[in-house]
Parts: sequence; C-alpha cells; structure tokens
Amino acid sequence: MTIPVAIMRGGKFHKKVILAEHDGLTIQRPVLPETEQEYKDVLRIFDQFVEDHPGTVTPPDIQTFKAFMEYISINIEGRIEERPTVGTVDRWRRCLQSALRQQRGFITPGHVKTTVQQYIKTVLKQKISLSEAQREKGGLSPNDLAILMTQLWCQDSLEYRGRYPDRTRIQLSAALLLYCFTSARAGEVHESTRRRKRAQLRMENMPDKSQSPRALAACYKHFQLTLEWVDGDLMFVLQYQRKFVKRGEERTEWDLPVHLFYEVYSEKLPLFFNLLVFFLPMASADGAFRDYDRVTDIIDEAETIARIGPTEAKIARTIYFKESVLETPVFRQYTECDVNESTGKSRGADAFSKQCVNLGHRSGFRININAGASRRWALQEADPGHSQTARMKFAGHFDANTFSKWYAHPISDVDGLATFLNIPGRTAHIKNHRSMAVHYDPHMLQSLPAKQMFEFEARDDIRKLTADIKNSRVEFLRENDDSKKQLLLNRRRQLETQKSRAYHNELARLRKADTGGPKNKFQETLFHYHRRVMPERHSLAEILPTSVELRSSDGRKALYALEALCLQERRVVYQSALAPKEGKCVCGEKVSWYQPHKQWPHVFKCYGGILARMGPDCFAKYCFECDFWCNERAKWSAHCQEHLDKPEELLRCDLIMFHNAPVKAAFCPFCMGDSSLGPIRQMKQFLHSPTWWKHVESHLEQKSRAKDFHCCHPACDIQLDSAKALRFHLEDVHYYKPPRGRKRPSED
Ligand SMILES: [Zn+2]
Ligand SMILES: [Zn+2]
Ligand SMILES: [Zn+2]
Ligand SMILES: [Zn+2]
Repeated sequence: MTIPVAIMRGGKFHKKVILAEHDGLTIQRPVLPETEQEYKDVLRIFDQFVEDHPGTVTPPDIQTFKAFMEYISINIEGRIEERPTVGTVDRWRRCLQSALRQQRGFITPGHVKTTVQQYIKTVLKQKISLSEAQREKGGLSPNDLAILMTQLWCQDSLEYRGRYPDRTRIQLSAALLLYCFTSARAGEVHESTRRRKRAQLRMENMPDKSQSPRALAACYKHFQLTLEWVDGDLMFVLQYQRKFVKRGEERTEWDLPVHLFYEVYSEKLPLFFNLLVFFLPMASADGAFRDYDRVTDIIDEAETIARIGPTEAKIARTIYFKESVLETPVFRQYTECDVNESTGKSRGADAFSKQCVNLGHRSGFRININAGASRRWALQEADPGHSQTARMKFAGHFDANTFSKWYAHPISDVDGLATFLNIPGRTAHIKNHRSMAVHYDPHMLQSLPAKQMFEFEARDDIRKLTADIKNSRVEFLRENDDSKKQLLLNRRRQLETQKSRAYHNELARLRKADTGGPKNKFQETLFHYHRRVMPERHSLAEILPTSVELRSSDGRKALYALEALCLQERRVVYQSALAPKEGKCVCGEKVSWYQPHKQWPHVFKCYGGILARMGPDCFAKYCFECDFWCNERAKWSAHCQEHLDKPEELLRCDLIMFHNAPVKAAFCPFCMGDSSLGPIRQMKQFLHSPTWWKHVESHLEQKSRAKDFHCCHPACDIQLDSAKALRFHLEDVHYYKPPRGRKRPSED
C-alpha cells in the first residue's frame, strides 16, 4: 500500500501518543471460532479421561498421552470401517496438542510428539486393529453424470417429499451441473453446517444478537442473467459468483471465482447437460424475474431479439431478478420449495451430499458420489492446457501445491508403454480409471433379496433392535410428559438408525459377494408405472436425454414441463381414460368435493357405472396396463387372453398406489396360471392390497397342506422345494409382500 502523496506533502504530524499505553506483547493470529470450540471439546474429553483414570497427569506425559490415544480409539466409531483409521486417531493427537498450546499455554515437547505419533502407527494400530482403509475416490466424468441424470429423469423410482416434490428433483439436477461446471465444494452452493456454526459463534460475540445470519449459500443475488451475442448467436448467459469458497472471508470480491454458463454448446449434447434448462424454469416458478412472468415470456423475448439480428451492443438484454428474491437461496429445503414459504434457509450441504450418494447407489455406483467427485474430475481435466493461475482461480485455491497434493490422480497422464515404445499414446483408458466407470455396476443389488432379508430379520441383534424399537413406540404412546416423549423419540430414532446401518452393511457385504442369485427389480419398474400418470415426467423422460437446443420446440416443451413441475402440488393422479374433465366427474360432480383418497374411487365407480349401462352385458372393466375401458364381455375375455399370451410382462403382481390412486392393479400369480378358470378370472384385477393378500394366502395354505411348492405363474412354471422357498420366490419375482402393518407368516 502506498501512502497518499497529498498527506506526505502537506500533512503536519503534530499530535502525540502515549507510549505507556502500549506493551511489548506479541499478538497471535486469531483462531477461527469453530476451531476454538473444537479445542474446548477435546480438552473437556481429556479432563474427563484424567478424572476417570487415576495415575494420569495433566499436562500429559508420554504414558498419559499413549493411554489417552487408546481411550480415543476404543470410544469413537470409524467412518469407513467399524474401527477408526490411523489417520483419524492421529488427528485427535494433533488437536489435543494444539488445544493444550492454545488454551493452556502448554507446548508438547518434540520427543513426546514423535513418540506418540510412532506409538499410534505401530503399537496401537496392532492392539486395537485400527483400520487402514481409505475411502476410494473417483472423479465424476461426463459419462457418469449422464448415468446419474438418466437415473433421475428416465427411471428413478424415488419420489421426493413435500408439497412440490419434483422441484427437489429439478434442484438436484441444477446443483449437480453447477458443481460439475464450477468445481465448487459442497458447502459453497449449499449451506455448510460449519459455516453456519462459525457465523453463529461470531454472532454470539456481537452486541446485537437479533440479526441472525441469512442464507450462507447460493442466492439469486449471486447470479446474473443476460441475453448476449456470442460468436454471432444470441444466447442466454448466466454468471455465478462463488461467494463461499474456502477462506472466503480473507478474500476481496475480485479474488472470488466467477463462472459463466451459456445456452448453446459448440457440440450437440443431451439437453440435461444444460444448466439453463433447469435454472430458468426454477427461477420463473419462484417468480424471480422482474419483467417476465413465465419462462415462455423470456424465450419469446430471446426469439424477438434474435430475429432483429446482431447490433454493436454485445449484451442485448439484462434480465433482472426482483429485489425481493435477491436474498432467497436458489436451492432450498423441501418444505420451502414454494418461494412464498421460504424463510431464507438454504438446503444444507450435508443433506445434499446424502442425496447425491443415494442417487449414485440407485444408479449402480458402488462408491459414494458427492461434490468432491465432480470437483476432482473438473480440476484434473483443467490441469493440462491451462495456466497455473487460471487453474487456481477456477479451483479457488490459495496454495499452488494444493492441486498436486490432493487432486492430481495417482494414475499418471503419461502413457508409459506408448512413451517407452515411442508410439502414439492413448488417453481414454486413463479417463475410465480416473472416473467412476470402474465402480459402476448397473445390476448392483438395490435391496436384500427375500431370503437374505428373512435371515437378516432373524439375527439375534436385529431381533433385539426390532423389539426395542417396538417397545419405545409403545412407551412413547403411553407417555404424557412432553420432555420425556422427546427423549423416547430420540431414542427410537437412534435405534432405527442403528438398524438401517446394519441393513446397509449387510447389503454392502452381499454386493461384494454377489453370487448372481435372484435380484429384486422392484425399484426399476416403478418409474414405468409412475410416468403413465405424470404427463410432464413422461415427456421429460423422452426429451431430456436427446441432443436438442434449448429454444427448439422440444426444448421449449421441456422448459414448460419443468416449470409446471416446480409449481405442481401433490395431487390425485389419473390415467387418461379416467381423468375428470375440467375437474368434474362424468356424473357432473366436482371431484374436489371429495377427500383426496376418495376422489379416484368415486371417478372410477362413476365411469364404470355409465359404461356398463351403455354396453350390452351390463358389464365394464378397465385395464390398468393399457389404460382402456371395455364393456363387452367377449371383447374383455379376448383382451385378457392377449395379456396372458405375453406373461413375462406380468411378472410383477403387486398393486401400485401413487398419489392416492392405483396405477397398477394386483394379480394372483396362481389364478393367472390356472387356464381352467378362463381368461377373465385368470386376469382378475385386485385394487385392495389386503384382499389380494388374503386371496393369495389361501392358495399358499392349500399348497402347504398339499406339499405342492409349484409356482404356476405362466411366465415361471418352476418347482420349489419348500413353502418358504416358494414364498421367497413370490416376493423376489412377483413382489408378493404383506400389506403395510402385516407380518409375514413364519412357517417352513
Ligand atoms: Zn361421479
Ligand atoms: Zn390391457
Ligand atoms: Zn388366485
Ligand atoms: Zn413365479
């Protein structure tokens, strides 16, 4: 910094200071509030340890220090395996040392530090069998991203929660792209608990505590949308400033990375790789644009400007966000998807990471996918061909060595064999091994098959857990005291987490040992049924994977569908042959007069009644598979026969309810295979789970008595060796599961 010349020249330095008001003490750089909290926590644990273990001393000598390290190792849980890793235990050592120095002025002597360090690596590692596992790291390549997007839009069975469930899906897609294209860390776009905690701790030291910090995540004010001329084409350009990079507080605005996303790519790529496809409808559903109501209006504006042609002004239009949304986070919790209900809270980074990991597993990736994976890939790809300055800016790095230490992949860019043999090299195989490709298995087990599930539930520890969960539920209902009720609830959640962790461990074990046994494809077929009643999701599943432009007619269709989904409340869904016209049933009554769960049955009954009266046989049936009404008995019989001729399409025999309406009827696998009944009775459709269960159970009882363990479903025709095996088969292949609240009968 230079001293202003004016002061140098004309200033007079006549005011004096008092030296006695100054001391000669050094000032240390301040410790971050959350680090200070960490120090306090570790010292609290240490003091407790000293109190519980007579003979230990504080500050710790070598003996005490060693004992404390063992105390830590046996009391904390590992993140990757059951036991913590050597690295984790060593971090505790470092933390204790720093805490002692910072809070109590005690400096651990060098020989103590080295001894304890070596002790953890050798003696303690053996004694406690500390884990040496390291989390496997892959990069998220464009191909992997395509797999995730395809899962999300073309086959996913997971339905999100809240009033606007599909906005969460759109948010997730936009966030994934944002992370991939910017290399941001998980806590930058979403709010990290660490940052929130730090802000809160800072607030505690502030005189005015009423001002709670607003969302510490990507808000509308961090984005800027323009329509501009790029290489002779008019396109939308979205600018995003990464405000929350690591150690962002120490940086100036100029130092923060800014990223640009544009509408028209130089190569044709699937539409779901375009961030604007998701961003524009989300913003317009939030009513975020100052001068445009719907996404259509903005697209029309773009078309108008494009028709006029380029002028000298490169930025043809700036599209402003409303003042009122600037502080609103773009990515919100599912309870706040409606912008009017937003309290200014962002979706948490941890919740987002969990969502990503789960999506990855559903897509068939064996290892965890999170923002770290996309960051790794983005930085590895940016390394060749960019200057170090450019790469550091892109990554938001302070230190030039961070990349080589943490992000450079162990697989070398050098194609060793080609270099040695002096032939042209290859790169594709390097990318395969750096990406998730090596961890991808589209046929990965998604849930425990029936037999393994039965064995899991029968395990002693799981039986105990199940009983404890049940007891805590009963106690909870009996309890009247609110605070005790809360305790019981917490206890139950803990138990449930324990059980679900055990389940996932078992699933992981089975995945490793995958014997190629029966796989339950329950989740895979579900989307096929859901899309029948969701026209928007249906058309998005067709359009998003194709390489069309955003402003093409298909692109527009996708934008409208996405905007509609953002605004669509959970409602009763109908297949098209049943849908009420203008909210009215065929009888003329408004469907909204009825409770949601009674709307579909009413409409269904009225339709059936009218069609039966119109037909010759006083008969009307609806085929859920074909979305088709039939009121002639002979025709219906022929229709049923058509289905029976393709029995492999009817493997799934359960009832599927979706948004208060059945989207698939249940069948009886045994009746279906009994041709003496005739097609109509073979294809009897059940719309009530308990009735269906009771019906199939009666077959099973009969079969059990007759020692007949034959599955006579027309697509199966297999002989099993016990009633139990038959039951497992029914569950895995035909989705025969007890309705909610009922237990599987235990028999053998
Ligand atoms: Zn009606
Ligand atoms: Zn049909
Ligand atoms: Zn039957
Ligand atoms: Zn079968």
